Amino acid sequence: YDDRDGQIWMDGKLVDWRDANVHILTHAMHYASSVFEGERCYEGKIFKSREHSERLLKSGALIDMPIPYSVDEIEAAKEDVLKANGLKDAYVRVVAWRGSGEDMGVASSKNPVRMAVACWEWGAYYGDAKMKGAKLDIAAWKRPSPETIPTAAKAAGLYMICTISKHAAEAKGCSDALFMDYRGYVAEATGANVFFVKDGEVHTPIPDAILNGITRQTIIQMLKEKGVTVHERHIMPEEMEGFEQCWLTGTAAEVTPVGQIGDYTFEVGALTRDVAESYERLVRA
Ligand code: PMP
Repeated sequence: YDDRDGQIWMDGKLVDWRDANVHILTHAMHYASSVFEGERCYEGKIFKSREHSERLLKSGALIDMPIPYSVDEIEAAKEDVLKANGLKDAYVRVVAWRGSGEDMGVASSKNPVRMAVACWEWGAYYGDAKMKGAKLDIAAWKRPSPETIPTAAKAAGLYMICTISKHAAEAKGCSDALFMDYRGYVAEATGANVFFVKDGEVHTPIPDAILNGITRQTIIQMLKEKGVTVHERHIMPEEMEGFEQCWLTGTAAEVTPVGQIGDYTFEVGALTRDVAESYERLVRA
């Protein structure tokens, strides 16, 4: 991703893609002092753009890293970078981090908080698996307690076990891994939330130890408008035996049907297809 043409917004100005670099002593690289957003632009409009900018500021606050930009300034930066790259359908990555400077210990109050926005074309996150039903591994790691780490932040530190678990999943021929949480309840995938269907009703984990995804919230609202009952509750992994359908939601994943998680299998059923198609229409509306 580093050696290509294009422009990246960095600390208030557009720079050439290849020049969007940071110093090796960047605090974030050593201590995970970084928060980010993944967004998708459809036909020139970022879906839930302000919600993403607001979440970025909230994530910064949760890791004691005040981001020196307002929602309006972040919105303008995203618009600028999309325009500079001539993209109307794109993935947008906003990242804010503690830079290099006076502090090289754990404390970092003297280092500047920096921000960058990049965008690029990115198709279906789960590729071919998208409508056939993705195969998921069950992660060996657990989503941590909110008393261990601020789980509501979209912060780099929370992704260390995601990368480990996704690598392990891919080595087994799976597209992704599903985490349980510290209590043993079904939690989320490495970059997406999970939904299940049984007897026409939908079950999804309570967001008390997982990211309450913007797509997740959108889908719950959509299901309610369709008259489908949604149970937000703690789900034990053994319950997956009785679930008929399953899908993942996320900005990158959109709505991706799941065919298998560990030894549990699911059909790509009518409700899954309906939700995936409705979401596709909604993001382009
Ligand atoms: N959980 C995790 C761990 C994620 O990384 C993501 C992607 N941001 C999600 C859930 C889904 O969130 P959203 O719908 O806001 O993209």
